[in-house]
Amino acid sequence: MNAPAASALLKQHLIDPVICIRCNTCEETCPIKAISHDSRNYVVDPEICNGCGACLSPCPTGSIDNWRTVPKAQAWTLADQLGWDELPEELAIADAGMPAETADADGFAPPPLDSARGSTIAPASAATPTINLYTIRQPALATVAGNVRVTATESDSDTHHIVLDFGSLPFPVLEGQSIGIIPPGTDGRGRPHHARQYSIASPRDGERPKYNNLSLTVKRVLVDHAGQPVRGVASNYVCDLAKGDQVKVIGPFGSSFLMPDDPKANLLMICTGTGAAPMRGMTERRRRRMQDGDGRLMLFFGARSQAELPYFGPLSKLPSAFIDINLAFSRAPGQPRTYVQDLLRERAADIAGLLGSDQTHIYVCGLKGMEDGVLDALRQAADQHGLDWTALHARLKAEGRLHLETY
Ligand code: NAP
Repeated sequence: MNAPAASALLKQHLIDPVICIRCNTCEETCPIKAISHDSRNYVVDPEICNGCGACLSPCPTGSIDNWRTVPKAQAWTLADQLGWDELPEELAIADAGMPAETADADGFAPPPLDSARGSTIAPASAATPTINLYTIRQPALATVAGNVRVTATESDSDTHHIVLDFGSLPFPVLEGQSIGIIPPGTDGRGRPHHARQYSIASPRDGERPKYNNLSLTVKRVLVDHAGQPVRGVASNYVCDLAKGDQVKVIGPFGSSFLMPDDPKANLLMICTGTGAAPMRGMTERRRRRMQDGDGRLMLFFGARSQAELPYFGPLSKLPSAFIDINLAFSRAPGQPRTYVQDLLRERAADIAGLLGSDQTHIYVCGLKGMEDGVLDALRQAADQHGLDWTALHARLKAEGRLHLETY
C-alpha cells in the first residue's frame, strides 16, 4: 500500500472526556463555532476546526489540548466523539503506509487568535498553581466539615457554604481556582455522572487556617435556564451533604484567574450571585496576609435582593477602609432594577482612577449575561476620563490583569 500524502492526513483536535469538566469555556471561546456538546461530552467538528488554538489557554484543565494524526477520510465524527468515555489511542499511521513521526498533517497552521475578551494568562506576580492533581480515575476523597446556608431563609435562593477537609491528602489551591465534584450514581444512560466545577471560596491556607480544607459556594438548582422545574444533580447533592459525608473531588483547575501576590495591587472585583466565590477567597487572602500594602479593594456584587446575596452578613462587617463594597439589587421591592454595571457607571470616576493604574487587576465572575454590560461600563468610565479603552483593554489582557469567568 502506498503511503498517504501528508495533505491526506489531519492533525485532529479532540477533547479528553476524562479530564474535561464541561465548563463550556472552549465552546464560548472558539471563534468559528467548531466546538459543541451534548449532555455528556464536548466535541470538535473536524470539518470546521482549523487548529487556530484560541481555545487552548482558556481551558482550565488542559483537556482541550489533545491531537491525533489520522487520514482525513478516517477523522472521528461528532457522533464518534459524543459516544466516547475516553480518547482513542493514537493511530499507527504506519499501518496506513506512513510512519506517524514523519507525518506532516494539516491542522496547526494559523497562529492562535486573540479572540478572548479577557486574559488567558495569570498576573505576573501570581503564585504557580497546581492543576489536575486528582482525576476522574484517581479522585481525592474529602470529608464534609461544614455546610451552612448563606442566603436568608426567607429567600427562594438556597445557597450553601460547604467546607471540605482533605485530612492528610495534599490538595494545594490558590484563590480563583476551582475543583470538580463527582456526584454519586449514574445518568440517564447508566453512565457515571460527570464532574461539576465549583470555584473555591476560601484562600490558599484554607477556610480555617492550619486546616487542610477549602470552601465552596453552591446554589441549589431547581429551575433550568428556561425557568422549567429541574433538579440539578450535583448542586442538590452538594447542598444536601451532611457533616462527615465523603465526597469525590478532582482538580484543582485553573491557571489564569489568579490573584497578584502583591499587596500594592488594586483588585477590582465584579460578581453576581455565586460568582462571589473567588472574590471571597481573594478578599480573605488580602485580609489575612496583605493588609500592609496600599492596594485598593473594590467590590461590585449583584443579587436579586439582600436576602439572596450570599454572605451578606459577614460582608457587611468588613471595614470600608479595607474594601469598598457596592451592592446592586435587581429586584428589591420599591427600588429600580440595579445591575453591577449600573453601579460601575455611578462610580465611573473611581473606576477610571483604578483603570489608569498599572497596579490594577480586574476580576469578573458570575452570569454570562453580565460580561457585555460590565465591559461597556468599563469602556464608558475610560472614555469619560480620557483613557483609550481599546489600547487599555488589549494591555490589561496581555498583562494578565483582566479576568472573566462567567457561565
Ligand atoms: P442570579 O441570582 O441568577 O443573578 C444574580 C444577579 O445578577 C441578579 O440580580 C440578576 O438579576 C443579575 N443579572 C441578571 N442578568 C444580568 C446581566 N446581564 N448583567 C448584570 N447582572 C445581571 O445568580 P446565580 O443564580 O447565583 O448565578 C450566578 C452565576 O455564576 C451562575 O451562572 C454560575 O454558574 C456562575 N458562577 C458560579 C461560580 C461558583 O463557584 N458557584 C463560579 C463562577 C461562576 P435578575 O435575575 O433580576 O435579572
